[in-house]
Amino acid sequence: MAQDELQKLINLISRLPGVGPRSAQRIALYLIKNKQELMLPLGESIKETAAKVRKCEICGMLDVNLPTKICSSDTRIKNTICIVEDMADVWAFERSGFYKGQYHVIGGLLSASKNFTEQDLRLHKLKERIEKNKVEEIILALSATIEGQTTALVIRDYLEKMNLKITQLAYGVPVGSEIHYLDDNTLGAALESRKNLS
Ligand SMILES: [Zn+2]
Repeated sequence: MAQDELQKLINLISRLPGVGPRSAQRIALYLIKNKQELMLPLGESIKETAAKVRKCEICGMLDVNLPTKICSSDTRIKNTICIVEDMADVWAFERSGFYKGQYHVIGGLLSASKNFTEQDLRLHKLKERIEKNKVEEIILALSATIEGQTTALVIRDYLEKMNLKITQLAYGVPVGSEIHYLDDNTLGAALESRKNLS
């Protein structure tokens, strides 16, 4: 029986992004070796986070308290929305400290495999927000990959008739790179020199 539980753990770990079967075995063994200080707290943390974390209806960010701090803040700029793929990108922008506006987290990118579709972009929500908050600028901060750029164009087309300034991160974002891997200064420079997409 013990073997079954262990195998189940290894199988689950191997489903994490970037983790193959052999890494999964190594991680499982490491957890077992560090049961008190890592394995049990990790299990507890996963359970608690799963129970408490929610997606903000407004911006799509994940948080325990909703609406999120940025959505309900009085000091953040309301007329600019930066569109990002996921929370890791929000964390990268917040870490760099260059951006003071709002976010719209889409949670994925359009892909040929169709496991993320235009419906999933929640563009109607974005449109509502733009109208309600008199948004003037949309910054597309999506990865410089085919999926990222396809998604950016679909969003641009959707918003085309709304009389907005639509910009995209500029130099400093190497082709094929993901936003949250950029260092703070590169991200800051890319934001500063963003260019018109409309
Ligand atoms: Zn929010």
